[in-house]
Amino acid sequence: MLGYWGKLLRVNLTTGKISTETIADEAIRKLIGGPGLAAEFLIREIPPMCDPLSEDNKIVFTLGPYQGVNVPGSAKWVVSTISPLTGGFVDSAGGGRWASHFKKAGYEMLVIEGKSPKPVYLYIDEKGAEIRDAVALWGLDTVDTGKKIKEVLGDKRVSALNIGPAGEIGNPMANISCDGYSWAGRGGTGAVMGDKKLKAIACYVEGKQTVPCADREGAEAFSKELFKICYEGGAGQRKYGTSGGAGNTEAAGRLPVRYWRGESYMGQIKKLFGDYMNEKLNITPKHCENCPVGCHRSCDVQAPWGEYMGTSGPEYECVGMQGSNVMVDDLFYVQKANDIANRSGCDNISAGAWVGFLMECYEYGWITEADLGGHSMKWGYGQDLVFGTELACYLKGIGKIFKNGIKGAAKEIAAKGVTERGVEYEAEKIIVHCKNLDYAAHDPRVALPMMVSYATLARGSCHVRSGSIGYGAGNGQPSFGFAFSLDDRFNIDKAGIAAKIGQDGSKVSNCMSMCIFLSGAGFNLPNQIKMLKLITGIDYTNMDLLEVGERASNLERAINNRQGMRRKDDTIPPKMKMPSLVGHRASLPVYTDEMFQAGLSKYYEARGYTQDGLVTAEQFKKVGLEDYIQYIPA
Ligand code: SF4
Repeated sequence: MLGYWGKLLRVNLTTGKISTETIADEAIRKLIGGPGLAAEFLIREIPPMCDPLSEDNKIVFTLGPYQGVNVPGSAKWVVSTISPLTGGFVDSAGGGRWASHFKKAGYEMLVIEGKSPKPVYLYIDEKGAEIRDAVALWGLDTVDTGKKIKEVLGDKRVSALNIGPAGEIGNPMANISCDGYSWAGRGGTGAVMGDKKLKAIACYVEGKQTVPCADREGAEAFSKELFKICYEGGAGQRKYGTSGGAGNTEAAGRLPVRYWRGESYMGQIKKLFGDYMNEKLNITPKHCENCPVGCHRSCDVQAPWGEYMGTSGPEYECVGMQGSNVMVDDLFYVQKANDIANRSGCDNISAGAWVGFLMECYEYGWITEADLGGHSMKWGYGQDLVFGTELACYLKGIGKIFKNGIKGAAKEIAAKGVTERGVEYEAEKIIVHCKNLDYAAHDPRVALPMMVSYATLARGSCHVRSGSIGYGAGNGQPSFGFAFSLDDRFNIDKAGIAAKIGQDGSKVSNCMSMCIFLSGAGFNLPNQIKMLKLITGIDYTNMDLLEVGERASNLERAINNRQGMRRKDDTIPPKMKMPSLVGHRASLPVYTDEMFQAGLSKYYEARGYTQDGLVTAEQFKKVGLEDYIQYIPA
């Protein structure tokens, strides 16, 4: 298909065999790339009930059509596998500079399978791929690994995906870093790489190898135009990063406070974002390749305790989960915790959630200084945040309770005996997650479709794969013909279809392997469709693309069904049913089990699944996935 090489690079770390295969045109046309193509591959190649840390599991890196033309936002690569955190399908996207090199090498997909007996890294250039020894890299953090690889290869232009110590020790929230400033954060993909003893995937391709396109000149000209549009449209993101809207998020009742027990951060959020952050941490924007927006942060400052902080600065999820979530409003400590998570190679959303859990356990007396080597673990104490982050990221001391994620930690604490606002707490009831993936910093209590979406997404609770944050503000999905208003936020009849369209719609840019922030800056759906036509020659419509998203969602769900997941796994945490006393949410309806279950039933109906949450052959036929019916479990 035009715009694609249609090639897959397969690396078996057990045998050392490296081979190239063809990706079927039909699969590309129906799924475009990213997690869609990865799910299409994994459903065929991974056995049911696959142990994420076994030889049977495979890691798949995928691109889409835009990397071949260096379109704005095309720095994204997507990693997918069976998650050691959730036990189901996970995909996560990172940026940096790797994607364009891998595309120039002549591929859209990299499959890693088997396990190496010793640490190795993969090197890919225009001549091919090679497995190399990584004993000297093992133990290095994510930033130093990238530097060392450049040094060893003698070429600063090399881009590397790599894991840190957290991935090496199998921390289930371990992520994959790219070039020391962008991370594919969620779901523990780094732990799967670590289990395979694969430290890094380095890539550099000399020259300008170009993939055939329907109209390359037209695509390049339009790409230039989009750079200008997105440069202007992304001015706010460039100045303030992803945390620029944190004040509005608090006002809308979506900010996590005190591990999801608070409703308002009492205005303290102003000390964690905007001009205050820019000055305090001496922030400058950092750009992924081919990105005019530059939402990443670089800080260049000395902390009051004398440490130089010249590293990646806080993004919104850090501000939410490692700031307001633990009530710490001192940016230096928030940044230090961010850096610990980043360098160890951990998801800073889960890292902040796990520290919040420790602080709540400490408040109830379920853990004490004796469990913490003499330290405290108090809300709002920056030093405790930093100490707790070290424990969680390196699974040290009491941090070992997190070796199976937040659910495992709660089981190990196994304490009970606290009642708050009518909710009886025990350790297993205070955790906030779905499928063991901790909630990101967007409270779904502001709209029922958000809650249903968090509960039903394949990778577990997730804001960016749900496309439903806008429902909290009463926004619909006009591109896909779906109207929604503030009055609909707790409408049970609309909740199911709203969650479905939000999820499938958000998959569109995901399957194109492009950065979601660029859509907001001006690379919107009409422009994406125009670019797709110039590259592939295919006239996709809005609804064609929504169906691409639906296919990907269905394949991911089927993989989860094969992993044993059913309706019982689509849950909301007890804290989400706790009434709010102040702030925006105090005026909103309180969730009940009945309300949530009714919304969930509507979702399965809208999806064409059974009421036990199983995909069906009829549904697969309806969206053109007939060839995959054989993989649906009975
Ligand atoms: S907007 Fe941010 S994450 Fe997206 S490509 Fe640009 S710098 Fe990278």
